[in-house]
Amino acid sequence: MREVLQIRYSEIYLKGLNRPYFLRMLVERIKQAMQSLNARVWMSDARVYVSDASDVNEAIRRLTKVFGVHSVSRAVEMNKADFLAVRDAAVALMQGVDGSFKVQARRSDKRFPLDSPAINADIGGYVLTKLPHLTVDVKAPKTVLSVEIRDNVYLYTQPIPGVGGMPVGTNGRATLLLSGGIDSPVAGWMVAKRGVSMNAVHFLSPPYTSERAKDKVIKLAELISESMCGLRLHLIPFTDIQMQIHEKCHPDYTTIIMRRFMMRIAARIAHLEHAQALVTGESIGQVASQTMHALQCTDMVSEMPVFRPLIGFDKQEIITVAERIGTFETSSLPYEDCCTVFTPRHPATKPKLDIVLAGEAKLEMDALIEAALAGDEIVTL
Ligand code: ATP
Ligand code: MG
Repeated sequence: MREVLQIRYSEIYLKGLNRPYFLRMLVERIKQAMQSLNARVWMSDARVYVSDASDVNEAIRRLTKVFGVHSVSRAVEMNKADFLAVRDAAVALMQGVDGSFKVQARRSDKRFPLDSPAINADIGGYVLTKLPHLTVDVKAPKTVLSVEIRDNVYLYTQPIPGVGGMPVGTNGRATLLLSGGIDSPVAGWMVAKRGVSMNAVHFLSPPYTSERAKDKVIKLAELISESMCGLRLHLIPFTDIQMQIHEKCHPDYTTIIMRRFMMRIAARIAHLEHAQALVTGESIGQVASQTMHALQCTDMVSEMPVFRPLIGFDKQEIITVAERIGTFETSSLPYEDCCTVFTPRHPATKPKLDIVLAGEAKLEMDALIEAALAGDEIVTL
């Protein structure tokens, strides 16, 4: 008898022939998360197991963040041959519990002599005789005592929910445009949750943006990198581009032209990173550069898909996710972003393409983009 962590996976069960591949990736990601805790990780009969972690609570914290994990239980693992000991372990597990309960057996090993209803009745009855203050309620019990008959018997009461999603690395790569704001870390996290490996690009405009603003973005990248199994962050100097746009383009159009530059440069980084898509934290109508017309205008310069997972989210909904994934506090630090310096007084909410193109024609676009890319500073998190 020993304690193990038993992990159930989420959507992977829907997979057909390629399910083994997704499961291998899930085990790989769990091993990565458990590495510094010296834990053992293995898969057996549709569950992943972790044992011998140097810090069990930290192991659980990390496991519930691994994409692909549906839930984690602290389970007692026992030998099937000794069912009397299983009954006693069930009592031990229910000690200290009050109110109603039910036993929920799952017999994956069909050779086991008792079927699920018989196990429920047997263990439920035994627990009741030993702990008479408990009551049985099969419809809405306060506590569910799970008994899984697999290669061993596993007993547990309180599964801890995981984040769900798919293991990172099973669904291609994407480049996140990461600002220091609330939205883009959430957007990147949501795409990574679907199994996408992420890298990120941040544009900074020193001296108008400070070292502290840069540190803040690196901190945000670090926070989301844990779920993403690492993140390479490209820091791109953007001051010259912003200055030129400011000097030469229509004042109401500086933001939209700047955003088109960001898309073009991000697409170049995406090619370098072998990514198939860009990701931004935009949502319809949140600011002038996120009206339908403005989004259409920025989209035009990107030949690869631009994913905007927050497109239909209200700000409060985004904040709720930011709080859950632990980025909100850092995002709320009051340092400037390159978007907030040089902002036009009356940004065009319905930008006209001919004015955009006329503005861009005045700039040495290729040279500006190459110079920015030459200044790329890569931080690996
Ligand atoms: P966020 O909270 O993500 O900063 P926002 O509501 O402030 O978003 P904008 O500043 O218009 O909106 O930015 C829209 C999107 O453009 C961001 O979500 C992000 O994906 C990208 N972006 C903005 N500024 C930068 C930057 N300095 N570097 C990289 N990407 C940026
Ligand atoms: Mg912003």
